[in-house]
This record gives sequence, C-alpha cells and structure tokens, in this order.
Amino acid sequence: MNYESTLAFAQSLDYADPLSGFRNDFLFPQQNGSPFIYLCGNSLGLQPKAAREVLNEQLNNWHNLAVEGWFEGDSPWMFYHKELKKLMGPLVGASAKEVCPMNTLTVNLHLLMVSFYKPVKGRFRIIMEAGAFPSDQYAIESQVRFHGYDPKDAIVEVAPRVGEYTLRTEDILARIAEQGDELALVLFGGVNYFTGQWFDMEAITKAGQAIGAIVGFDLAHAAGNVPLKLHDWNVDFACWCSYKYQNSGPGGISGIFVHEKHFTDTTLNRFAGWWGYQEEQRFKMEKGFVPEAGADGWQVSCTQVMPMALYFASLQIFEKAGFIDPLRNKSKTLTSYLFYVINEVNKSLNNEQFKIITPLDENDRGAQVSIIAKQKGKEIFEKLVANNVLGDWREPNVIRLSPVPLYNSFEDVFRTGELLLQISKEVL
Ligand SMILES: *Cc1c(COP(=O)(O)O)cnc(C)c1O
Repeated sequence: MNYESTLAFAQSLDYADPLSGFRNDFLFPQQNGSPFIYLCGNSLGLQPKAAREVLNEQLNNWHNLAVEGWFEGDSPWMFYHKELKKLMGPLVGASAKEVCPMNTLTVNLHLLMVSFYKPVKGRFRIIMEAGAFPSDQYAIESQVRFHGYDPKDAIVEVAPRVGEYTLRTEDILARIAEQGDELALVLFGGVNYFTGQWFDMEAITKAGQAIGAIVGFDLAHAAGNVPLKLHDWNVDFACWCSYKYQNSGPGGISGIFVHEKHFTDTTLNRFAGWWGYQEEQRFKMEKGFVPEAGADGWQVSCTQVMPMALYFASLQIFEKAGFIDPLRNKSKTLTSYLFYVINEVNKSLNNEQFKIITPLDENDRGAQVSIIAKQKGKEIFEKLVANNVLGDWREPNVIRLSPVPLYNSFEDVFRTGELLLQISKEVL
C-alpha cells in the first residue's frame, strides 16, 4: 500500500476498517478532559465496557446463591473455566482440553517447569533469549538452583549479534543444535517484550525437539497479538498472561497450554492441589492425587471466579471479532503505517532521530513498534504523555508504541507521528 502522512488518508483507512467499531467496546483513560491515544496495550489492555457487568453478575451470584453458586445458577463456578477454555483454544491454536485458565503467569511458569524441566545427569541445560523479561530470568534461575545446578553452567542465552537488536532465526537454531544432548529445555518468549520481535516458534520447536529437548514458550506478548498454532507446531507447553493484549485487567488470570501428547505421561512431576484432581471424584476428598485429564490436571487452587469473569468478557470480544486472523490483518497494516509515519518524521527532521529496533518484516513482529531516540528520548517520551499519547518507556532507552487492532485507529497512528515531529522540533 502507498501510505500518506495526512489526516485524511488515516481517516480513509479507518473508514474502510471492518473492526473500527470495536473501539466502542472499550473505556479510554483521560487527561485534561480528553481521552489518551492509548498505545500501551502491550503492558495493560484497556477495560472492556462489559467488565463491570460481568463483575456485577458474579457479585449478584455470590449474594443470591452464596456457597450454592459452585453448583447452582446459570453458570456454576465449578464448571465456569470450561466456558473460557472453549474461547482460549482458538486464540492460541489448541483444543479446549489443552488449555486452562489458572493462577498468574510467573506462577504457571514455575508449575510447568516442575513438570517439564527434568534435568538428568548430562542433560540439564536450558536455552533462552538473552534479555528476556526479568520475571522469566528469575524464574528460570531459581528453578535451575532448585535442581542443584549453577545458573552459569545451566542457562544458555542467545544474544543478538554485535550492533544488532533482534535475534536471527539461524543463530537461534544453531545455538540450540550446538547444545546437543546436554539440552533439557528450550524456554523462549513468543514475542520479545523489548523489541517486539516475534520468534519463529515453529522452527524453534522443531530444532529443540530434534535434539531431544522439551520446548516451552512464554506467550505474555504473543497471546491475543499474533496467530498461534501451538498444537500443530507441536509445542510441549506454554503459558501467558491475559492482561496485556487480552484486556482482562491488572493481575488478570493466566492461561496454560499442555500438548495432548503429554496427557497420558504419568511420570511428569506436578505440584498438585485439590482442583487438579479428577473432577468427578474431587469431592470424595480421598487420599492420593489422581489428576484430571488434560491441562485441567495442572490446576492447584479453586476457580478464581472474578478474574475469570473478566477474562471471559474479554474473550467474548475476540470471538465477536472472529478471533485472531482479522485482528492480525489490521495489526500488520497499523504497524506498517506507524513505521511509515516515523520514517516521515525522520525525513522532516533531516536526521535519523528515531531508530526503529522492531523487525521491518511484518511477519517477524506483533503489534508493537520499539524506537530509540538518538537524542533526548526520555524528554520526548514525557512530552508525548503530557500531550495525551500513552506509550511506555523501557530502560535504558526505548519508547514502545503498541497500536492494538481492537481499539486503536489509523488516526491514532497519524496523530502520534504528528506529535513526535512537533515535540522533536521543540526539544532538539
Ligand atoms: C508481562 C510479563 C510477565 C509478567 O508476569 P506476571 O507473573 O503476570 O507478573 C512475565 N513474563 C513476560 C515475558 C512478560 O511479558
């Protein structure tokens, strides 16, 4: 497409956008009486208008049914997660049996590593991306120590080449192959939080499994953002949070994926709790843990009804939008337009003031564009916020702008570019 950096052009794209109406399903934060252009859905998605209704509904159930709410009412809490599983599956490319909402993300990362990081003599290493989200680094380090290894020996990090910001797939695959039979686990992000790079998850899965390792993904920045085919790619396990691109609210519930090929493996360790026990027999309260079949068998504590209600409300919006494919189409055009607009700003300034570190190829990125300002980055970022454009700042020097196809418009992108130019002219 030939883009133009004009308001009329941006509005013409919005006019032709079949998803433009979904913006009305969300509430926007305001400052000085006007709504923000919200480009921070990669950190905390906006509140769906339906959120308040579903919470009220559950408060009413609690009021009217109290303990009987577990088995009575329109959707008893005992089986409530099943409604979510039906909608989570299509979002990540899995069957309903392979996914389950539970806990929060880092907790699930630990629980899944208990099952799938099984170091044995000689095969104990974990390979991950360098500069992974800190929570993942801490979780992996502590798991390695828990098994009696030194993170310095056991963790292999794949880093970008000197002078580059993103990883080359060939380098990732080569580093995996190099580990040979010392590699126990590949644990990568789906989309990197800092650069917005979407890794070739299928190729990574194949490479890890080819040398006998288990392959898992943290999909915090990928779920609800890019199309995933976890089952078909033969990924062993994955987990994600739902409060970023999936708009389930701060501290929202996490989701897990376990490939069905593992369902019958009775050798897997689990940190068990009563809610993972076989559903039919759960209330017999018998001794000796017998897991429910499928991902549900990894549940530990009872259903978190309020966070699940919020996630359900948001998943219903995805269902209405046709799940991920229509969103992905719009998302590619939104980020391409943002690339264009930023390059136009550079041209007007006669200077490579803004360096984009997100991959140029739209197949290697999700809905995020990360930029480094050559000069006065923090000051420019603060002025964007003061002028009602809310992206975020990531130390040491990156501005992340994330146009989300459910609620951002092409006009949002155009206005962000206009403001970047105006602010740059003021401060440089
Ligand atoms: C956002 C994010 C987290 C956050 O974990 P919580 O347990 O939900 O606080 C973890 N890992 C990655 C990769 C993230 O992007």
